[in-house]
Amino acid sequence: MGEQGVRSRKKGASGSGGAGAGKAAKPESHLAMVRRARRINRELAEVYPYAHPELDFRNPFELLVATVLSAQTTDLRVNQTTPALFAAYPTPEDMAAAVPDKLEEIIRPTGFFRAKARSLMGLSAALRDDFGGEVPGRLADLVKLPGVGRKTANVVLGNAFGVPGITVDTHFGRLVRRWKWTEQEDPEKVEAEVAAIFPKSEWTMLSHRVVFHGRRICHSRKPACGACPIASLCPAYGEGETDPDKAKKLLKYEMGGYPGQRLSPPPDYPGRPAPPLGAG
Ligand code: SF4
Repeated sequence: MGEQGVRSRKKGASGSGGAGAGKAAKPESHLAMVRRARRINRELAEVYPYAHPELDFRNPFELLVATVLSAQTTDLRVNQTTPALFAAYPTPEDMAAAVPDKLEEIIRPTGFFRAKARSLMGLSAALRDDFGGEVPGRLADLVKLPGVGRKTANVVLGNAFGVPGITVDTHFGRLVRRWKWTEQEDPEKVEAEVAAIFPKSEWTMLSHRVVFHGRRICHSRKPACGACPIASLCPAYGEGETDPDKAKKLLKYEMGGYPGQRLSPPPDYPGRPAPPLGAG
């Protein structure tokens, strides 16, 4: 989806001025919210048909490691770090036997590198000793691995094993609260309430679409409401910039004509790949 797509969708959205604009303040029924939520999901599927996990990975182990590294940093920074990491330690056996100083040095750009190195070595040793060197495909097993919480486990299950899962990160939580799908702050409660709105088959792609939207258009501090294709469905329309030209300047990644976060994006990604570490 290029900028043209954003522009053409925006028209109807800004014309209505957001969900509920100009209507009497009548509380939305649960059924109406569910219908609106499902419509948002359908619209986002049209805007981001290429939505995908924004971590580069070639197998479940690489996705698990990349997801652990992604705490408190950007997927871009992780993607710029993992080529050297997986060249040095391609398997759990290799990573479990790493010299800690060397491993720490490689992952230093992702921050919190000492704690992350401990997690990576610990989870690699557990994979080697308890799971025959393979990443398990069950939530109950994954969350027992050092440094692996429910969010990381759901990312791995959804994207490496095809098990439907909702991934509640900072973007997902912020957007679904703006859309009044939930008022919960606790990620597990958010996950449960959003899961109840959608069929299981939608969970993984819904997660990607929402995160894509949060990273490109519905930013934390300056949402680009004036360039938002779902403005007419959004109760928070107006929280950000509503002037279309100013809003357009706030768009990020492929929506703004910039590189994405993956150095190896999927073939259908319409944007440019991210640069390697040190290149920009
Ligand atoms: S940018 Fe976010 S807050 Fe603004 S209309 Fe779109 S979804 Fe709503």
